[in-house]
Amino acid sequence: MSEGAVKKEEKPRKFQAIRGTRDLLPPETSLWNRVEQTAHEVFATFGFGEIRVPIFESTDLFARSIGAETDVVSKEMYTFGGSAEFSERVREGRMEGTLSEMQPEEKISLRPEATASVCRAYIEHNLNQLPQPVKLYYMGPMFRRERPQKGRYRQFYQIGAEVLGGSDAPAIDAEVIEMVMTFFDRLELQGVQLDLNSIGCRECRPKYVELLRAELLKVKDRLGADSQRRIETNPLRVLDSKLESEQGIIATLPHVADHLCEDCTKHYAAVKHQLEMRGVIYRENWRLVRGLDYYMRTTFEITAQGLGSQNAVCGGGRYDGLVELLGGPATKGIGFAIGEDRLILSLQESGKAAVQQGRDVYIAWMGEHARATAIRAAKDLRRAGFSVELPPVELKFGKALGQADKLGAKYALILGDNEVAEGLWTLKTLADGSQAKFTEPDLLEHLRKQKALSS
Ligand code: AMP
Repeated sequence: MSEGAVKKEEKPRKFQAIRGTRDLLPPETSLWNRVEQTAHEVFATFGFGEIRVPIFESTDLFARSIGAETDVVSKEMYTFGGSAEFSERVREGRMEGTLSEMQPEEKISLRPEATASVCRAYIEHNLNQLPQPVKLYYMGPMFRRERPQKGRYRQFYQIGAEVLGGSDAPAIDAEVIEMVMTFFDRLELQGVQLDLNSIGCRECRPKYVELLRAELLKVKDRLGADSQRRIETNPLRVLDSKLESEQGIIATLPHVADHLCEDCTKHYAAVKHQLEMRGVIYRENWRLVRGLDYYMRTTFEITAQGLGSQNAVCGGGRYDGLVELLGGPATKGIGFAIGEDRLILSLQESGKAAVQQGRDVYIAWMGEHARATAIRAAKDLRRAGFSVELPPVELKFGKALGQADKLGAKYALILGDNEVAEGLWTLKTLADGSQAKFTEPDLLEHLRKQKALSS
């Protein structure tokens, strides 16, 4: 027995997907494809181009941009490497490659989000030399070691967009928000609610944060452990606490809108006006702060129906200064990330998840002549865009029709030696059992017409 082969008496281990990750299977994956296709289409109409960034990057990139004190960076990243661990693995022969090939000093992390990577790419490829602003969107998996629950996974998917460079004109904020809302509208997402806030800039935010900290210290004893800790680390985050016992206290805290500087006040008012001009309905929510450090001024969050406590499907905001923080030129920026898993869940919960299932045509063939004709028919039908099931071995008609039913086929194309000899093919509509004969070109025409009628 070769090494590694399973011993006879041992039951082979049954592997399961790692906690917080999952397989997406058909037919659900058709819905994922429809959602992604709609994103490609809608974002292109707003002049956005797709960017694909790596799944892992330097840990430092995320720490610097998202913030070392945030939950995402301090607790939730999947991080590998760094010299000590790498050298040990190499010594023990647990990894391929040499130390120098693996850049052993550099810790790398699976991306917990993609804004930092997009900014890194903007700098690396000198995208500031293109006409500004540069409008990019992305989609793909992100990784956070959170406690898994409905709508919260360790590998989850985001669809996001970023506008980098140019000005911070409020119309840009409004157009980005209009784009997400248009996308949700196209998908018929139900119960969509847009919350909007401004959290100020480098000038006014620190002053507000200090005021908030002072007020929170006065009521510290009445707050929970998390909020008590956040008075020191990030007082703004106390505002999005969901703890029932803290709600009354939070309601009495000073509102950020009353402490914005003149420029931020003007910017916020203009963003709201621009949204109104676009017919985008929003609700102001002074407690909306967002969890990542790089946000400033406009922040927004969109919730949808059917998601329980994890009901945020999109979060976004302005992050002027982030590119600069990462060693690039002074650059304005705004973007959002949609949680695709939650978006799909909400569509499913509200019955807006219909996707075409089953085959268009099942070819029930019998006989050697019919086999050759069936292969040709399958090729022609597929070329015309129909989905076709061609059984690999000959089946009795009864069995073939039973299979066609199970697969949810709309039609069975019956090809026996008679049909082939006559040049007249029988098409059975499975929903009502009706049958009709067609010549080959007429059949294609008939199917095309029926498809056009049903779409
Ligand atoms: P964030 O990048 O934290 O601003 O999150 C943006 C959106 O991504 C959220 O509104 C969620 O819809 C989604 N999201 C964030 N974390 C997770 C997760 N662990 N599982 C599923 N979706 C998530």
